[in-house]
Amino acid sequence: MLTSDAVHTHPPILARTPRPALWAHVPDAEWDDWRWQLANRLNSVDELAQIVRLTDDEIAGLSADGIFRVDITPYFASLIDPDDPRCPIRLQVIPQGRELQAFDGMSADSLGEDGHSPVPGLVHRYPDRVLMLVTTQCASYCRYCTRSRMVGSPTLNFSQADFDAQIAYLERTPTVRDVLLSGGDPLMLAPRILEQVLTRLRAIPHIEIVRIGSRVPIFLPQRVTESLCAMLRQFHPLWVNVHVNHVKELTPEVNRALALLADAGIPLGNQSVLLAGVNDSVEAQRDLVHALVRQRVRPYYLYQCDLVPGAGHFRTTVNRGIEIIEGLRGHTSGYAVPTYVIDAPGGGGKIPVMPNYVLSQAPGRVTVRNYENNVYVYHEPTDYPPAPHTGERP
Ligand SMILES: *Cc1c(COP(=O)(O)O)cnc(C)c1O
Repeated sequence: MLTSDAVHTHPPILARTPRPALWAHVPDAEWDDWRWQLANRLNSVDELAQIVRLTDDEIAGLSADGIFRVDITPYFASLIDPDDPRCPIRLQVIPQGRELQAFDGMSADSLGEDGHSPVPGLVHRYPDRVLMLVTTQCASYCRYCTRSRMVGSPTLNFSQADFDAQIAYLERTPTVRDVLLSGGDPLMLAPRILEQVLTRLRAIPHIEIVRIGSRVPIFLPQRVTESLCAMLRQFHPLWVNVHVNHVKELTPEVNRALALLADAGIPLGNQSVLLAGVNDSVEAQRDLVHALVRQRVRPYYLYQCDLVPGAGHFRTTVNRGIEIIEGLRGHTSGYAVPTYVIDAPGGGGKIPVMPNYVLSQAPGRVTVRNYENNVYVYHEPTDYPPAPHTGERP
């Protein structure tokens, strides 16, 4: 199965996941065309009922007023198990009536981003890096979207004037060395516009690295073409983080898209969200991270679900997240273990949460345990000089 062919080549003919009868007549050339995929997205009970046996709760969710935008590419919809209401693909994109339930701590701007925005679309929370929101649009919409307060709007988007203000802020803020493009999904921008933004960022000398956070390779892998990768690779060092939550998302189409990006020299990471019923077990996470590293994607963060409206039923306890990391660390490749984080409600940033491996500390002795719960003592020096406090960042 793990032949080098499967991993490293990208055949001109796209490998295709079998598709439902509804789309059997669609010529491959259309199915493989990202424009066709976007133009034929599904969002209503009538459309989805053609391929999925909808539950009453899903019908309630799809019919509710004021629900966060629904739109699913035919490709991603084709991965849904039509008969399994617990299908991990389906839970991520088809709303349930439960989505409307309020819960303790719920907040539309749970991460306090708006309060950290010096100009619209720019979130500057950390000293040396910023989040730059470049579009409100996505290829499909995740039900637990942390930015549902602004994402998916049919009318609001960022304008050239917003980009100008964002770039002007970055030009006058030399502490920023890392810019993280997000949204919405930056790979939904017209390539010409994205190229313009990247060109302008690269013209700022103190910006060392640029990163793109995108789920397009997963929702719309057809969009990752040789020409898109040729455009992106002009802007190295450019990093891309994708968003995969379950191993079922790593189809031949997605694996091809990831290989194209990796072959363009782009280091790939994955940010997944811990979601009840989707990936909240050691087994589900182990299968996911193993499949990711086989595709040259380094698991980067595992996020505790944010406290945004619509996401209440996806929350797990924090203990479950700790158990999952405990079940990975030491048991499998260190490369495959993401950092589990809580993005602090109110705007404290990402806080890592880990199993505790340090059992006790005494002068000269640190007692630690390993992944098998065996206990060891490390003898540390007692004459080691304390760190000088310069107050300067590295
Ligand atoms: C996540 C995030 C970043 C990047 O954080 P890293 O830990 O460097 O990946 C930067 N700015 C904001 C506002 C963020 O939410």
